[in-house]
Amino acid sequence: MDIKRANSRPTKVAPEANFTGHVMQDAIIVGEAPSRMRASSVTFTPGGRTAWHSHPVGQTLYCLVGVGRVQLEGEQVQELHPGDTAVIPPDTRHWHGSAPDRLFTHLAMSETTDSGAGTEWFEKVSDDDYVKTPEAIA
Ligand code: MN
Repeated sequence: MDIKRANSRPTKVAPEANFTGHVMQDAIIVGEAPSRMRASSVTFTPGGRTAWHSHPVGQTLYCLVGVGRVQLEGEQVQELHPGDTAVIPPDTRHWHGSAPDRLFTHLAMSETTDSGAGTEWFEKVSDDDYVKTPEAIA
């Protein structure tokens, strides 16, 4: 068994090229073949968010702490709370991050394709798009 100890993997600051604001990533697993699993815990400070991006096999986001936001392109912004799971379809442009005034931590889970392809990154999310009012939760 391979136990990857927490103190062997320092928290990383998410790259400025693909994120807005201060975002921190803790690796959970980068699976080795035949596994295609990828998982990380991501913490967004208020206003922090990903750029627009897509995942070839989709992505599952599980909200752990705080208040977050997620939006599929062409749909309304959705608010996320602890215990919520957001299912991102394959090859669908979207972004996720904190609410403007709250911390947010989610568990991000995805898989690569058979050929190893992963996330595709696009432009950053504009402030205008980011501050749009989330859809009311029923
Ligand atoms: Mn994503």
